[in-house]
Amino acid sequence: MNEPANWPKHPPTRTPAHAPACRQPAGAFFPLIDRNRCEGAGPCVAACPTQVLQIGVLTPPQRRGLSLKGRIKAFAHRHRQAQLVAPGRCEACGACVQVCPEQAITLRRGAPAASGVRS
Ligand code: SF4
Repeated sequence: MNEPANWPKHPPTRTPAHAPACRQPAGAFFPLIDRNRCEGAGPCVAACPTQVLQIGVLTPPQRRGLSLKGRIKAFAHRHRQAQLVAPGRCEACGACVQVCPEQAITLRRGAPAASGVRS
């Protein structure tokens, strides 16, 4: 079967326009980032349609919470990881979860502080 000439040569990458449509009210969920897995590559930042995430440097408390393997990994990536800058804007579309190559993101119900998360 021949594809139309105007079809893209490669599958489209996930962008905000491709984010799933099964969204929740803003702030009902937030992305929990596994600090021992995140490598700060940033596809989650690009995928998020509501700018919840940003790449930043781990804070001292975040560094103290790492496992030995996580510390080595973080050092190798200059302690740069995804950070929550506006968790209240999360609409639980799941785009960040899908694009993370390290499977470092899961969605949790509620707000980070209410869940005891220091992200
Ligand atoms: S689940 Fe939330 S943080 Fe993740 S891409 Fe969607 S809106 Fe952004």
